[in-house]
Amino acid sequence: MYSYSKSEMLFGKAKEVIPGGVNSPVRAFKSVGGVPVFMQRAQGAFMYDVDGNSYIDYINSWGPMILGHAYEPVVKAIQEYAAFSTSFGAPTELEIKIAELIVSMVPNIDMVRMVNSGTEACMTAIRLARGYTGRNKFIKFEGCYHGHADAFLVSAGSGVATLGIQSVPGVTATVADDTLTAPYNNLPAVEQLIADHPEQIAAIIVEPVAGNMGCILPQPGFLEGLRQLCDANGILLIFDEVMTGFRLARGGAQELFGIRADLVTFGKIIGAGMPVGAVAGPKTIMEHLAPAGKVYQAGTLSGNPIAMIAGYTLLQTLNDNPVIYQQLQEKADYLVKGLREAFGASGSVYQINNLGSMLSVHFTEYPIIDFTSASAANNELFRRFFHAMLERGVYLPPSAFESWFMCNALTTEELDATIQAAKAAMQAIK
Ligand code: PLP
Repeated sequence: MYSYSKSEMLFGKAKEVIPGGVNSPVRAFKSVGGVPVFMQRAQGAFMYDVDGNSYIDYINSWGPMILGHAYEPVVKAIQEYAAFSTSFGAPTELEIKIAELIVSMVPNIDMVRMVNSGTEACMTAIRLARGYTGRNKFIKFEGCYHGHADAFLVSAGSGVATLGIQSVPGVTATVADDTLTAPYNNLPAVEQLIADHPEQIAAIIVEPVAGNMGCILPQPGFLEGLRQLCDANGILLIFDEVMTGFRLARGGAQELFGIRADLVTFGKIIGAGMPVGAVAGPKTIMEHLAPAGKVYQAGTLSGNPIAMIAGYTLLQTLNDNPVIYQQLQEKADYLVKGLREAFGASGSVYQINNLGSMLSVHFTEYPIIDFTSASAANNELFRRFFHAMLERGVYLPPSAFESWFMCNALTTEELDATIQAAKAAMQAIK
């Protein structure tokens, strides 16, 4: 049996000085209960907590660690660069190099603006779309999460969904009024919103594979339909690739699905675990950003050298080794097959959604295609499954409203251990 006594003690102390004891809500294990595990170090596919327990990690810092923790070239690059400066607040050649690399990897973009988080990237993309089109409203999808900026906290996924918050105090009605929402995978609903708000909609922002209500795939024709609706109505299509960028393919979802977005946002992998986000697109749109244009956006630490060298080093590895994506899919196929055996043997109804190294498990007989179907799954069984896996050394997202992220450091040994844990867990909780 794992003991969590140090984590318990630290959580008690943390709650005195940090609201809810954590610096980002979903870490608090609110919906699954129990004490969040305080981590000490991580290496490859494993994390090690303060009580000496080890875990096979399927969160991977919510996405960035696609090659596993403490990936040596990234660690070395950070160590070497830190001696030059932790922040110049002035331009560096490195910023050009990472922008050039991203432009070479991602289709349909000429320019990149670096920011410090996925939230900032999405905020900036919406402001840019508004500045470019001269329109105020935008459409997002129920259960999608684009960060914690006010305008996105309407029908949001991730921690907002996990905590069951319907309307976030502090977000004014005036701001929320400009955020229109439709169910994911529902083109007629989008068409209706556009018809109801003629020439008022600046952008449609979408997670091309949704990872904030579990992992939900776009149904055939959904993304193509959004592209067509945007073209027909002078609306910009924004792919929020904070999760999917550099994870599903070198060029992200645009490459994988062969669909052009007008603007793309990045985060997570782009910084290799350092705080980085980016917005990217064609010159014609991007040059509206200050100082080239008047759409203002800035950041004291944007393009920070340590973050840039970390991201650059990881992206270079992904760019040079596209086989990584094939390997990740093979590992996911192996895991999914094993999980199906484990759930099947227990007699539980379940759904596993998977694409590349993203996946999620919901205990329900119905396909998970949107926020409504994700919300209807058996969360109590998920809660018990989560804890039964944690006790067996497998660290899963502490909410069914989150995607699992696999890393390429996982070997057959860890995958087999995960499958064995799932079999034992399902027997233990049934
Ligand atoms: N967009 C998506 C799709 C995300 O999953 C997230 C975070 O999980 C964000 C935006 C916000 O990114 P950050 O947490 O870096 O602000």
